[in-house]
Amino acid sequence: MHYPKVFQSLIAHFSGLPSVGPKMAERIVLYLFKQDEEKLQSFAESLEALHHLKSCTRCFHIAEGELCFICADTKRIQNTLCLVEEPLDVIAIERTGAYQGLYHVLGGLLESGKSDNSQNLRINELLNRVENDGIQEVILATNPTTEGDLTALYLKKKLEPYKIKVTRIGRGMATGGDIEYADELTLVSSLTNRKELV
Ligand SMILES: [Zn+2]
Repeated sequence: MHYPKVFQSLIAHFSGLPSVGPKMAERIVLYLFKQDEEKLQSFAESLEALHHLKSCTRCFHIAEGELCFICADTKRIQNTLCLVEEPLDVIAIERTGAYQGLYHVLGGLLESGKSDNSQNLRINELLNRVENDGIQEVILATNPTTEGDLTALYLKKKLEPYKIKVTRIGRGMATGGDIEYADELTLVSSLTNRKELV
């Protein structure tokens, strides 16, 4: 490679990002090289600030302090939880503006056919919230994939003793689809058409 070391290092960093190949990484680094110092400084500061972010202690969404901005908002409907796999799903649903309740980020899905990984998911934390926070409905909004469905059924069973309403997002979303990439209309209709799991 004919680039200075700094370039090589940056290209290596960028080409390790999702959907960025080596050619694209090269282009990004050359683009950044042409930016003025102030812009680069601000970019570097934002990167630096990333590791100060935490997980919300209540719902495990990304948070700047103890609680994320959703949990900190007392105007949200406090007795409804939307259960999702990861923070990007929260962002996708928030973008629709159609949901006013709270969330619970599970941190993954049950893996079908593999060893039991339920200990790595925030299931006990979910049950604690249902038990102590006056939750009346949990919307299971895992992706409509094999693992998403498996996780939803597992959680439905776990939630049974609490005698609350447990719903699953509607089939507006194509089977195998991904909440993170679903368009807003589809997401809104799958939330609106959620069905009680019995
Ligand atoms: Zn939160």
